[in-house]
Amino acid sequence: MAKQNQKEPEKKKDEEGCWEKGTCEEPDLFGPLFKMPNKGQFKFSLWYFLLTLFILLMINSLFVPTPDSLVGFSEFKKKIEQGEIVSVQLGDNFYYGYTAKPTETKGPQKVYRTVPVNDPTFIPLMDSKGVSYTKISEKGNAFVNFLLTWAVPFLMFFFIWRILFQRMGNLGSNVLALGRNRAAIVAEGTTGVSFNDVAGCEEAKEELKEVVDFLKNPMKYTSIGGKIPKGVLLVGPPGTGKTLLAKAVAGEAGVPFFRISGSDFVEMFVGVGAARVRDLFRQAREKAPCIIFIDELDAIGKSRMNVLGGNDEREQTLNQLLVEMDGFDSRTGVIILAATNRPEILDPALLRAGRFDRQVLVDRPDLAGREAILKIHVKGVKLAPDVDLHKVARDTPGFVGADLANLVNEAALLAVRNGRTAVTQADFTEAIEKVIAGLQKKNRLISPEQKRIVAYHEAGHALVAAFTEGADPVRKITIVPRGIGALGYTLQIPTEDKFLMTEKELYGRIDTLLGGRAAEEIVFGTVSTGAANDLVKVSDIAKRMITEYGMSPKFRNVALNQRQPTFLGPTAEAPSMYRDYSDATQSYIDETIASIVNDRYEKVKNLLQEKRPLLEKLANRLLEAETIEEGEFATLVHSN
Ligand code: ADP
Ligand code: ZN
Ligand code: MG
Repeated sequence: MAKQNQKEPEKKKDEEGCWEKGTCEEPDLFGPLFKMPNKGQFKFSLWYFLLTLFILLMINSLFVPTPDSLVGFSEFKKKIEQGEIVSVQLGDNFYYGYTAKPTETKGPQKVYRTVPVNDPTFIPLMDSKGVSYTKISEKGNAFVNFLLTWAVPFLMFFFIWRILFQRMGNLGSNVLALGRNRAAIVAEGTTGVSFNDVAGCEEAKEELKEVVDFLKNPMKYTSIGGKIPKGVLLVGPPGTGKTLLAKAVAGEAGVPFFRISGSDFVEMFVGVGAARVRDLFRQAREKAPCIIFIDELDAIGKSRMNVLGGNDEREQTLNQLLVEMDGFDSRTGVIILAATNRPEILDPALLRAGRFDRQVLVDRPDLAGREAILKIHVKGVKLAPDVDLHKVARDTPGFVGADLANLVNEAALLAVRNGRTAVTQADFTEAIEKVIAGLQKKNRLISPEQKRIVAYHEAGHALVAAFTEGADPVRKITIVPRGIGALGYTLQIPTEDKFLMTEKELYGRIDTLLGGRAAEEIVFGTVSTGAANDLVKVSDIAKRMITEYGMSPKFRNVALNQRQPTFLGPTAEAPSMYRDYSDATQSYIDETIASIVNDRYEKVKNLLQEKRPLLEKLANRLLEAETIEEGEFATLVHSN
């Protein structure tokens, strides 16, 4: 029963892989070990290696003497005395005694083997008996022995070493190419994106056009001593078109364009990332004028201070990046673009003068911007004459470019599903709801009793909104379950895009949110878990009113929460880090939140009690029709 008046845009991943790095081969343990110039002629893989080892062992076993019987040294001597052994081979580890001379071996002969003892009488004994003896080296084949004891371990070592270097992302026989980076060099204009494909962020476009212009006619700027910034940082929420803008710059500039994502630098081995940065800049300087684009800069640019334990690799990479940025000036014609949606976690050193000193905010589009973006995305879509993109834009405040692209696609899919040949306004309306609240689940079963609770709950939200000054108008109430968790919702859409909210409007929002639970209590005498989501929002608003907006009686006009300045508001990843007030103030905050919520709740309950007949009427209508639209709602409320 979440009341939704703000959309949580789904983060949409960049799906265009057309200019991704594509040339890099992945390390392959069983792949080629040696790469000869004519590729694939001579391969040495692990399988060959194991096979060779096996063959060597087989050969070696062939040289092992025929089966023999191991005897004690004294018995060996006795057999010589007795004349049984007539020929002896003296090895280092064993003596072998043969019952026939090597020259007259015919047929099977017996072999005795013994462990030698340092016995000075042994040789004289053999001499006196006329036994022929020779010194031998153990186990026959010296070559195989050499291979097993020296060559094999060496090969093994070489093999492991090789794997390690492959792991570092480097291939080919040249291990010194260790830090070769994987940035794709995008040839001029190949991104196929131009500034016309981006809308709703005009200021950002203007600044980037200047960058493009500088790369095209550097003289125009340098001749009057103008300086173009070295680094331009695109900052904005996910899906607002930062990557798209960078692609547009590449498309327009007509200069080589290196694109790499911050996460590409972060490698397993310390030092590799730094080497990559060095190599990237070296390549860029060779190709100047050109553009380097580092997407998702926060992956390497994270502040070095608040990382517990530190991350050597990332730190080295970041340091190298800073060094490289200092090492050239923009007159060389290399311009660095970077994008991030979390500027607040970037290392301050990155933002200092001479580095990313120019920041371009790519914010959520406004009404006109949304309409322009929609116009771009409906280009390839067949539209019915009744489609009013202005109205669609009006109904989608807070949507970013990626959401709008998604919306158009959803609308087209719905049109197909409904058997239409063109997309109608109704498809858009349904797509908006879909994108807002997840897929409609008409067939989801819900018991009649629960349905009644949901109906009163939503009617409560809507009624309070209708009778509260400062609350956004109700566009739609529904008890059709959507997505996960939301059993119904009341859709309020602000009449215009709001960048500021007054104290009155904040209270209006709190009241409306509390309306659901208050209605439940009035009608059923008890409350349900359905309001959980509402209560979270209520507490959040109340807390911010006290700590951030200075709207509490005691700390009027005092900000209690010192936070790092952010463009995008606090995120889950970067909560406020410092609290510069006492524990006593904390209890005051907690108590004041409770008292604000209590006061408002009583007020809302009174209002609903007063409007009880209308509440019944609304809830019953909801149970019957499941959905009440803006117009019908207004009639119901005002006929009363
Ligand atoms: P970001 O990098 O800011 O997260 P992207 O540039 O990856 O966002 O945007 C994703 C997709 O959303 C784009 O490929 C484009 O289709 C659409 N889009 C986003 N912003 C815009 C915009 N301002 N104008 C047109 N299309 C946009
Ligand atoms: Zn609710
Ligand atoms: Mg992006």
